[in-house]
Amino acid sequence: MIYTITLNPTIDRLLYLEEVLTKEKNNRLESVAYDLGGKGHHGSYAMSKLEVENQALGFCGTTNKRQLEKILEQKNINHDLVDVYGKPTRESYVIVEKGVSGSILITERGYEVSSYDKSLLVDKIEEKVKPEDTVLIAGSMPPGFEIKDLEQLITLLNKIGCFIACDLSGEALKAAVKAGVNFIKPNRFEILELANHGQSLLDTVKELTKTIDYVIVSQGGSGSLCGHGNEFYQISPPTIVVKNDTGAGDCFVGSFLASLTQKKSFVDSLTFATACSASKVQHIDSTSFSVKDAQNLQKKVIVEKV
Ligand code: ATP
Ligand code: MG
Repeated sequence: MIYTITLNPTIDRLLYLEEVLTKEKNNRLESVAYDLGGKGHHGSYAMSKLEVENQALGFCGTTNKRQLEKILEQKNINHDLVDVYGKPTRESYVIVEKGVSGSILITERGYEVSSYDKSLLVDKIEEKVKPEDTVLIAGSMPPGFEIKDLEQLITLLNKIGCFIACDLSGEALKAAVKAGVNFIKPNRFEILELANHGQSLLDTVKELTKTIDYVIVSQGGSGSLCGHGNEFYQISPPTIVVKNDTGAGDCFVGSFLASLTQKKSFVDSLTFATACSASKVQHIDSTSFSVKDAQNLQKKVIVEKV
């Protein structure tokens, strides 16, 4: 079983404007849509789409709980969330202008979690997670959830003995590496937190692979530099027309972990995840991808041993 943990979930409210956003004018909406914004939820979406059993854990504000659950249900995501009473799950406003590529993103900070909320999450993890399971911790941490709480969470997972995957950034990423995890996928900016001054990217990956089973540095359209044991690869996706690259990394992580769980090899898991995320960037929203397109794209992924 794979569990994803989204500590700071988000409901994306996509505001499609009739025209270009203009100051001092009433900007009319053409339509509104809702989507998941949390990275763990994005990972769960990819796994569910690939029909790999998983459950989304994490926090959820009670005042708009139905709204978040409705999106999770529509997207077929099995979930068991800890209620944060009397508070709403944060929203992100994604403004999409007519005929303009890219979007404007405005994000709320999110509710503060209490010691009680945190203890409920720990209880749930202790009750559910078994040594043979995989746990993905992804995304930012809400106010009130400190680095020491993350360290305690990883220590607990290490005690259980499950496979620990992290998609974190900044201090949280550093703390996770120190606490001991099995998988990380920093992007080209996030890896800078872990690199020693003057060290090449390959040397950084080699160094990290000494203590982390799977190290993948994603490089957007240029692919990824990946290490596992003594195997190192540069993976390049086929060239495609990009509609929206937000969520490409989350799709990569979800489909890679799904493949590993299905006992696919390292290289097969890498090429499939690369293909799924290449399909994802051709979709306008942050999660959608086509499994059939991914299977075709996988044949065009280039693998170079480095
Ligand atoms: P996010 O945090 O928004 O999910 P990220 O910054 O973590 O994204 P990226 O490095 O942008 O992740 O992308 C992850 C993977 O998705 C890349 O390694 C690559 O395989 C694939 N990908 C991203 N952008 C493109 C692109 N333009 N064309 C093809 N594949 C892409
Ligand atoms: Mg990312």
